[in-house]
Amino acid sequence: MKKYSEETEKTLAFDREHLWHPYTSAIDPLPVYPARRAEGVYIELEDGTRLVDGMSSWWACIHGYNHPVLNGAAEKQLREMSHVMFGGLTHRPAVELGRRLLSVLPEKLTRIFYCDSGSVSVEVALKMAVQYQRAKGFSHKTRFATIRSGYHGDTWKAMSVCDPVTGMHGLFGSALTPQFFAESPRSRFGEEWRPEDVDSMKHILEEHAEEIAGVILEPVVQGAGGMRFYHPQYLRELSALCRKHGVVLIFDEIATGFGRTGEWFACRHAGVTPDIMTIGKALTGGYMTFAATVATEEVARVISQGEAGVFMHGPTFMGNPLACAVGIASFDLLRESGWQTRVKGIETQLKAELEEARHFSQVSDVRVLGAIGVIELHCPADVGRMQAQFVKRGIWVRPFGRNVYVMPPYIIPSEELSLLTEGMKEVVRLQ
Ligand SMILES: *Cc1c(COP(=O)(O)O)cnc(C)c1O
Repeated sequence: MKKYSEETEKTLAFDREHLWHPYTSAIDPLPVYPARRAEGVYIELEDGTRLVDGMSSWWACIHGYNHPVLNGAAEKQLREMSHVMFGGLTHRPAVELGRRLLSVLPEKLTRIFYCDSGSVSVEVALKMAVQYQRAKGFSHKTRFATIRSGYHGDTWKAMSVCDPVTGMHGLFGSALTPQFFAESPRSRFGEEWRPEDVDSMKHILEEHAEEIAGVILEPVVQGAGGMRFYHPQYLRELSALCRKHGVVLIFDEIATGFGRTGEWFACRHAGVTPDIMTIGKALTGGYMTFAATVATEEVARVISQGEAGVFMHGPTFMGNPLACAVGIASFDLLRESGWQTRVKGIETQLKAELEEARHFSQVSDVRVLGAIGVIELHCPADVGRMQAQFVKRGIWVRPFGRNVYVMPPYIIPSEELSLLTEGMKEVVRLQ
């Protein structure tokens, strides 16, 4: 690996010895690259290397880095108040962000619960479902059903509904609540719908509905658990099944929200409104951790009329004004950016430029939806080696499992997007 300055080498040595990275060994970690600053679509390393960002820092940084408008919003809010408790107090940033969210969320989702991170918003959604069922007199409805290849976060209950294989459920033994896993739909987005796709979930609900509080899944695009794009008809059928069996329907739009799939929210591809929805990631344009769980009037009312009379959750940093202020600025930027045209343009270019990879011997599938492009390999990617090859080509792409994928900031110019797709194809060919 390249030598950095002495100071940077010291930084990296401390990091290696003391800092844990996501899903990483403490004694034999993969190398990490020292980022110095980031601007627009570029991440700059300590040695001056500039990398075109293909990841949006995990779906979040949709407007690019170091954005003057978002910086300005954070600075302005910082001078007024960076935080006050949300118990007993409220503030304009929380209300203004709420107003904006309601203007784009499915109409029936009118009750907003702000939380700290995506995983927490999933915990909140699952707790809402359990409290809702209990308040309706179904206190035995406490478990959840989902589809395979999903990802919902790393906290306990969220983890229990992640794909059991990629989530390695076996590692946690009886500490992890067992849930119900249906086969994920095989009908792909944009292809023909196979009615039998829904059978697996249908059976689960027919057999176990009296134990099941809710069904949770990522609508249309399954992210970290498999990077699969499935037919929206599945959501329509599922919605009807949930209604029939008295099961709460929860959509996790943490990755798919805010335009990534070509719609404000992926559920719009199906025209289905869930009872509860989680949003996060791009909510602050990638500036800080923040998320929300939104529910229908019905869910909120039933919970509030239940035995507790309240919803039992309230984190310290709930409704953080700084995050709300950046969220507002990010929302306005997005709305005024003509993102539909940009996302469509990225989609068209990804489709055209990644298509060639379909014929590589290493590749089992190529798929594109909105501003998401995936090359799926036959074998799991060697992340460390591939990462180094990407960095050498001046791009930031981080494969996961068998998927080499990009979801770049919406502001990416077409030349930089071509650098990503060319780099992906070259590196895949070397495997
Ligand atoms: C990232 C993600 C989460 C978890 O969010 P964190 O902010 O990392 O806790 C949950 N669900 C989906 C679909 C995600 O992509």
